[in-house]
Amino acid sequence: MKNIIRIHSNNQAHWVGDGFPVRTLFSYQSMGEELSPFLMLDYASPAAFPPSAQAKGVGPHPHRGFETVTIVYKGELAHKDSAGNSGTIGPGDVQWMTAGAGILHEEMHSAQFTQQGGMLSMAQLWVNLPANQKMRPPGYQAIEAERIPCIQFENDQGTARLIAGKHTGLSGPAKTHTAMQVWDLQIKKGAVISLPAPNHWTAALAILQGQVKTDKGLAGDASLITYSQAGSGIELVASQDTHALFLSGEPIREPMVGYGPFVMNTKAEIAQAIDDFNSGQFGRLD
Ligand code: MN
Repeated sequence: MKNIIRIHSNNQAHWVGDGFPVRTLFSYQSMGEELSPFLMLDYASPAAFPPSAQAKGVGPHPHRGFETVTIVYKGELAHKDSAGNSGTIGPGDVQWMTAGAGILHEEMHSAQFTQQGGMLSMAQLWVNLPANQKMRPPGYQAIEAERIPCIQFENDQGTARLIAGKHTGLSGPAKTHTAMQVWDLQIKKGAVISLPAPNHWTAALAILQGQVKTDKGLAGDASLITYSQAGSGIELVASQDTHALFLSGEPIREPMVGYGPFVMNTKAEIAQAIDDFNSGQFGRLD
């Protein structure tokens, strides 16, 4: 069994653009080694948006060197990027975007959601790429809710949607560049569940809503439980109905240097990314 290292919680929300009131549950700036290959997780808990004439969100911005994984729980987003991809992401859907060598994209509320208003809730996970994949061509996986297999835990204790990874013969639809598990959990109060996290892999539980009991105390809304890389498997004890993300992966043991929307291995590569962006090499949004 892995040991719990600590519980982090964040009640400090900030806006991403004018569309996403998020809490950052972890960032590679402080926890990069501990959580590799995962770089960052932002969570927007359910928030009401009134109908609007103008779409809210984040306008065109670049990324290089990693992947952004957007999971929508409520509401609907619209995506457009410089590689020519576009689409809407609705409840249960996941967008797994590989920035690779560079992409410009915008992340907005969809036209329909903008007009009608409603509740919005989503999460965005950043996943690192190994050095030899950082400059690969950009990619885009639109993963609709119905393609995500769902595990039922025994005795009606809850469910896990397998976004990435493998379990009991099921495979998550996301194609990843290193080995990982990304599961979206709905666990019932009183449940005691074992989750598979191999020895030497990173493991973390992001509690989005609910409460989990641990030997280091209670973990509630918008908190993160981190585990040792040594040992295999973790146990989740739900003291309330809980919505959580289970993240486990094989660490990428390479230097990380980040600056805003770029995560590379060296300072020189960051300087290059800034130069390339300023000289228009990330393409354009039409
Ligand atoms: Mn982005």
